[in-house]
Amino acid sequence: MTSSQLRQQLLDTMRSSTSSGLNRGATGNLSVRFKEGFLITPSGISPTDMSADDMVFMDMQGKWSGDHKPSSEWRLHREILLNRPEFDAVLHAHSTFATVLACLGKEIPPFHYMIAAAGGKTVRCAPYATFGTQTLAAYALEALQDRQACLLANHGLLVAARDLPQALALAIEVENLCEQYCHLLQIGTPIILSDAEMEVVLEKFKGYGPNAVIEANESLQKTDS
Ligand code: 13P
Ligand code: ZN
Repeated sequence: MTSSQLRQQLLDTMRSSTSSGLNRGATGNLSVRFKEGFLITPSGISPTDMSADDMVFMDMQGKWSGDHKPSSEWRLHREILLNRPEFDAVLHAHSTFATVLACLGKEIPPFHYMIAAAGGKTVRCAPYATFGTQTLAAYALEALQDRQACLLANHGLLVAARDLPQALALAIEVENLCEQYCHLLQIGTPIILSDAEMEVVLEKFKGYGPNAVIEANESLQKTDS
């Protein structure tokens, strides 16, 4: 994709993250890999007030230019893009239910099989560090090991994905799971799926989704899985 297409996609995704209820006001931020660096949303501007031209290009050394400051969380985005080459998009939000759990410092156990959509048997919660710091970036990278999503203690949600649409879709899914888990905690003790069952689900997820359609059609002809 060209720079202007990615800038437009960043804007559209940022606006969708507001309309889908993930973000309110100017909280949250979004980035996408581009050339030797990445494009990132500007700091402190609400998605309704930003334009595609306001997106900031930054190289992996943290150099940027332009009229707007990059998101204060650029270190967080850079850390993931530098260390997880399989991902080209990073989304951060203060979505309500993820943040509620993050403020309890709670990791989300596999109370529902869809936890596997985030890449593992749990969604971890990274320890607290001040927003915008390299310490927060390092904690987040660790919590994201073998995962595509984590909570940030006393802060919010972080998601990494192959592209911006997938990052948004996963963030909505994880927020949904957080909402369900919050409700569960109010009315009882959730039944947690076993390690063995989550292994089965994680294996099944490898062949799930639009990218796996051809693969699945082929294997369906051989076995009823
Ligand atoms: P920015 O507006 O600088 O992206 O900051 C919002 C935020 O979520 C900080 O953690
Ligand atoms: Zn934040």
